[in-house]
Amino acid sequence: MSIEDIKKKVESNIDSNAEDLIGIAKDILDMPEPGYREFKTSKYTEKQFNKYGFSNIEKVSMTGLKAVIDTGRAGPTVCVMGELDSLVVLGHPHADEETNAAHACGHHCQIAQMIAVGQSLNDPEVLQGLSGKIVLVAVPAEENIEVEYRKTLREEGKIEFLLGKQEFVKLGALDGVDIAMMTHTSNFDGEKILGAGGTNNGTVSKSIKFIGKASHAGGAPHNGINALNAANLAMAGIHFQRETFQEKDSIRIHPIITQGGAAVSSVPADVRMETYVRGSTIEGFLDASEKVDRALRGGAMAIGAEVEITTLPGYLPINNDKNLTEMYKINASDLIGEDKVGQAGHSGGSTDMGDISQLMPTIHPYVHSASGDGHGIDYVVEDYNSAVITAAKAMALTVVDLLHGNAEKGKEIVDKFEPLLTKDAYLKLLRSMYRQEKFKA
Ligand SMILES: [Zn+2]
Ligand SMILES: [Zn+2]
Repeated sequence: MSIEDIKKKVESNIDSNAEDLIGIAKDILDMPEPGYREFKTSKYTEKQFNKYGFSNIEKVSMTGLKAVIDTGRAGPTVCVMGELDSLVVLGHPHADEETNAAHACGHHCQIAQMIAVGQSLNDPEVLQGLSGKIVLVAVPAEENIEVEYRKTLREEGKIEFLLGKQEFVKLGALDGVDIAMMTHTSNFDGEKILGAGGTNNGTVSKSIKFIGKASHAGGAPHNGINALNAANLAMAGIHFQRETFQEKDSIRIHPIITQGGAAVSSVPADVRMETYVRGSTIEGFLDASEKVDRALRGGAMAIGAEVEITTLPGYLPINNDKNLTEMYKINASDLIGEDKVGQAGHSGGSTDMGDISQLMPTIHPYVHSASGDGHGIDYVVEDYNSAVITAAKAMALTVVDLLHGNAEKGKEIVDKFEPLLTKDAYLKLLRSMYRQEKFKA
């Protein structure tokens, strides 16, 4: 078959199962589970894999799944991903009544897209025209939430990293994968249905404890050590760093005080803060992270308090591969028209697809199909045809381009890509971001 005929076949495979594929997204919408708790979603996804003829499903990490389609001919391996996890958003119209878990980031559509891409390619007529492999993965825990729960899992040895794709890399589940893609839902954006390219921020997160000494706030404040004052000075210290941040690094630091004192009549002795330190470059946010630590120590030092700083790795910034983005945009334009395909800008948000993009050619396009604010109470996917069917077709057609014939185009994308990190350097970097420090002057 010509490449045009293969593409037509792939599209018609998706069309003929459209109703069922959209049903998958809607079923998952009704079983929201946050990261490393996606037990029902994982079981359900495995069933869908089986229904569409995939056997030998490999289990990865706590809830992750992996299926492989092998053309039997040598060539690159292309990975199509979907994220299993939900958020927790109190009052979301699709929230679980008991847990408040809710798909307020649209991940339920990703699993349906991934299955759609897989079933459309897993067709003998299609596979005959392709080389290499297609790997389908359902990944846990993209959202960096419920940190205490995940820290417990870490202590129990069930996971090392708090985010699912990091864990997949460490476990070797992506060894041998050459190219990766997934599509995220996003808000409606005028005429545009698909958007590709763009950048976003990486992060580290910190939990901070200032320890002072309690004393009568009226009668004997001179005998106390005021941990809240130390925290206040530290926050001022953080803000005074801002003139050193460079535009190119898009630094964002947004500390909160989660515990400010125990009783108004007592000098605060245990004050807790949390913050993210975000930036569009790794060097940028690591540099800002050091400055935050310095300010935290400075606050403690001035007051004579102690400070405990726990730093955890978050996400790395995304590096959408230019050549793969171009190829995707051409396929997306052929599918829905050039005027409906946009270029994404810089987002202050983050994803662990950024981590993958440091290691291999990666794209993380958006499908504009939802109303409301992402992560908000009103974020609801409205246009399932775009969110599942159109998004899946654009990825499936791109996979056909990559692997058609002897997979020349796929090989070219891989050859032109220069990894920003090797797997070893990446894991070392993540591990170096875990820091626990106790400071007392
Ligand atoms: Zn999200
Ligand atoms: Zn998301």
